[in-house]
Amino acid sequence: MSRSAHPAGPRHADVLPEGHYSAPPADLNTLDGKVWAQTVTRNADGVLTVGGVDVVTLAEQHGTPAYILDEADFRGRARAWRTAFGNDADVFYAGKAFLSRAVVRWLHEEGLNLDVCSGGELATALSAGMPADRIAFHGNNKSTEEIRRAVESGVGRIVLDSFQEIVRVAHIAQSLGKRQRVQIRITVGVEAHTHEFIATAHEDQKFGIPLADGQAAEAVRRALQLDGLELIGIHSHIGSQIFDMSGFEVAAHRVVGLLKVIRDEHGVELPEIDLGGGLGIAYTSDDDPREPHEIAKALTEIVTRECEAARLSTPRISVEPGRAIVGPTAFTLYEVGTVKPLDGLRTYVSVDGGMSDNIRTALYDAEYSVALVSRASDAEPMLARVVGKHCESGDIVVKDAFLPSDLAPGDLIAVPATGAYCRSMASNYNHVLRPPVVVVHEGESRVVVRRETEEDLLRLDVG
Ligand SMILES: *Cc1c(COP(=O)(O)O)cnc(C)c1O
Repeated sequence: MSRSAHPAGPRHADVLPEGHYSAPPADLNTLDGKVWAQTVTRNADGVLTVGGVDVVTLAEQHGTPAYILDEADFRGRARAWRTAFGNDADVFYAGKAFLSRAVVRWLHEEGLNLDVCSGGELATALSAGMPADRIAFHGNNKSTEEIRRAVESGVGRIVLDSFQEIVRVAHIAQSLGKRQRVQIRITVGVEAHTHEFIATAHEDQKFGIPLADGQAAEAVRRALQLDGLELIGIHSHIGSQIFDMSGFEVAAHRVVGLLKVIRDEHGVELPEIDLGGGLGIAYTSDDDPREPHEIAKALTEIVTRECEAARLSTPRISVEPGRAIVGPTAFTLYEVGTVKPLDGLRTYVSVDGGMSDNIRTALYDAEYSVALVSRASDAEPMLARVVGKHCESGDIVVKDAFLPSDLAPGDLIAVPATGAYCRSMASNYNHVLRPPVVVVHEGESRVVVRRETEEDLLRLDVG
């Protein structure tokens, strides 16, 4: 429908404008278990509860906006990944999705390893007691200082990302009298996202060393010659929010192809292969992610098959899920402010946060769900767009969603599946204060990352 065709439609339009949505759900009070954290339910009063705590209480105690994280769900997902891969593989949680000391402790306790990609992430991991040998250090432009700290602290592996870095890490390790375990990150020409993947010969991106033109083989040649390095494997990461495993199949085929070249040329079989992260989660009811055990089975089979064909012994596999562990475990709790119906279009629902606490909608055109959580409602559904309080028209949190038409200022709404890449990408745009991360567990709530204050902001402003 064109906008002009319905200049003065009803508030919750009978005729809906174009957008990314299906028909309104039969019952807006129903919470789809796929997109909400595991312990989420509605109590007898219709109020959403998580970890045994209701959101009205959470808002009173901790304010809004706030990220509410379900500890049992986080631990459960971490454990599911760990169990799915068993003892023949390693699971590295990708810290960039969301990292705090509480998360590091849970990962440690649940037997997972941890990926970091900056000095700050490394400092957080070490300060919360993650053993250094269970940490992998990533990044396309690690500073000399970061490399030195990583080597000195004894990280289990550094993932080399360029020819220059091969020399740099070798040099630093040697000067510290160490031999650093490393993997080489290669780009195999596979780029995967959601339901599709593209396979090309060349990959036009900043990460990794191209398999094309023998560059990855040359990188291996150089790494094997340097005393400061112990080359333990090859790394490949092909994309994000992936549902279809066929991209991994092509990637594994190409990585194993390189292992074969290395075996033939150098007579060494590298003992490890890392297939990266990127496994998808449900942001809306339309998404159908796979379970960790299915993913583990598929990936293990792919690598085993490829290695058998190449007559290589199967290397130890590692994977690096970030989003798939933390993403579904948290939601963002907002208070509704201004509600602005635009006749024939949609109703703009403003919340007390926005693109500063969730940049993914603006950045990636990401889709999210939303629900009224401080009460149940039998009102008609209205087509809504949830927007923030920033001075920016692209400040959208949920582009198209149905909310009850009796929604009013003071109601609480929640956006599920915001555990990954929301707090970790949060900004201070408009000098808005970054929200806290509140953990709920067995009827208790506690702050693990506190809300920023104006004092925090002003402390950095030393002019
Ligand atoms: C981002 C990233 C991950 C994690 O990706 P998710 O989509 O959160 O699973 C894993 N490994 C590498 C190298 C990455 O860059």
